[in-house]
Amino acid sequence: DWLSCDSTQHVLAMLEAGGHEAYVVGGCVRNALMNVAVGDVDIATNARPERVVLLAESAGLKAVPTGIEHGTVTVVADGVGHEVTTYRADVETDGRRAVVRYADDVAEDAARRDFTMNALYADARGRMLDPLGGLPDLEARRVRFIGDAGERIREDYLRILRFFRFIAWYGDPAEGVDAEALAGIAANLDGLQKLSAERVGHEMVRLLRAPEPGIAICVMAQSGVLDKVLPGASILAIQPLVALEQGHGLTPDPMRRLAGLGYYDSASLRLSRGQQKRLGQYQSLLSSDEPIAETAWRHGAEIALDVAILRAASLGQPVAPFVQDEIAKGAGATFPVKPRDLMPGVQGPELGEALRRLERRWIASGFMLSRDDLLE
Ligand code: ATP
Ligand code: MG
Repeated sequence: DWLSCDSTQHVLAMLEAGGHEAYVVGGCVRNALMNVAVGDVDIATNARPERVVLLAESAGLKAVPTGIEHGTVTVVADGVGHEVTTYRADVETDGRRAVVRYADDVAEDAARRDFTMNALYADARGRMLDPLGGLPDLEARRVRFIGDAGERIREDYLRILRFFRFIAWYGDPAEGVDAEALAGIAANLDGLQKLSAERVGHEMVRLLRAPEPGIAICVMAQSGVLDKVLPGASILAIQPLVALEQGHGLTPDPMRRLAGLGYYDSASLRLSRGQQKRLGQYQSLLSSDEPIAETAWRHGAEIALDVAILRAASLGQPVAPFVQDEIAKGAGATFPVKPRDLMPGVQGPELGEALRRLERRWIASGFMLSRDDLLE
C-alpha cells in the first residue's frame, strides 16, 4: 500500500524519467513485508547526487543535500522526505563507519549493506529485487550478515548492535541465533568502544522499542555485548517486564525498559532531554518509598503504573489489584484546600509550609479528609 503512496511514486518517477534506476530499499521494504510500521523511506539510485538535486529541482521538488559526503539527498514530495542515496560500495573503513565510493551496479550496492533482510529492493511497480537471498531469510526470520560476519563487523562495529536490534524485531526465538554471527561478535567485542555515544544510543533505543526484545537482550548479555554498552545492567527483570507491559496493554517504551535493566546513565547514550527526564524520574521513584497513590497524584496514573510494573517485574510478580486501585484513587484526587482558605491568618513563607503540612495529612488519610476537616 505504501508503495502506492503518491509522494514516493513521485520521487521514483522523477528519477526514472531522468533515465535512472530507482528502488525503495532497506527498512521500508523489510517492514512492509513484515507488517511493521514503515518509518523513513530510503531510495537507492544509480543517479549521482548532483543529478538527483538537478532532477528534483526541475520537477519542482525540494532537494536538501543532507549527507552529500555519503551520497544522500533528501527529496521532499508532498511534505514527505525521501532519502535518495546513490549506489555505493565499501572501499575501506576505520571501524567507526564504512568509507564508500559510488557504484553503478545495484548488486554492489546490495553487497555493502549489513544484513540480507536489509538488501531488498522494490521498484515503482512493486517488482522486487533480492540479490542476496534476503526474502527467504526474512520469511524464516533469520538475521544473517552479508558476507563474513567478523569482517563486516570490523568495517563498522555498530553492526553488532544492529544485529541484536533486528533479532529483537524480526528474529525467531525458537530458531536460536546464528552461530557464525555470534562467533564474529565474540571475537570483536573490543571494537564497540570505538563507537560514538550517539550511534550507540540511537541503536539501543531502537532495539529497546521492539515489542519483545527480551531474548535479544539476554543473548546480548551472554555474548558480553550488553556489559560493553550498558555496563552494570541486569537482565533479570526484562522478560517479566515485557510480559507485564503486554498484560496491561502498554506500548513498548525504551526508557521504561532501561529502567527495567537498572541502567540510568543517560549521558552514555546521549539521550534527548525528554528521555533523560523520564529515566531520571523512574530512577528516583523506584528508589523512594513514596506510596503509589501519592506517586499517581503527583506524576499521573501513567508514570505510577510504570513504577508499579517495574517494581512487580523485579520481584517476578503481577501488579496486585489494590495497587491499581491506589493508582486510580491518587490520580483522580484533588487537594481541596486553596491558599486563600488560610489567608489572611497565615501568610508569607508560613503559608507554603502550612499548605504542605495539610497536603501531607490529606495524602496520609488516603485523600479522604475534606476541606473542612483539614481547615479544622
Ligand atoms: P528503520 O526502519 O529503523 O529505519 P532501516 O533498516 O531502514 O531500519 P536505517 O538505519 O534507516 O535502518 O538504514 C537503512 C538501510 O541502510 C539499512 O536497511 C541497510 O541496508 C543500510 N545500513 C544502515 N546502516 C548500516 C550499517 N551500519 N552498515 C551497513 N548497512 C547499513
Ligand atoms: Mg530506515
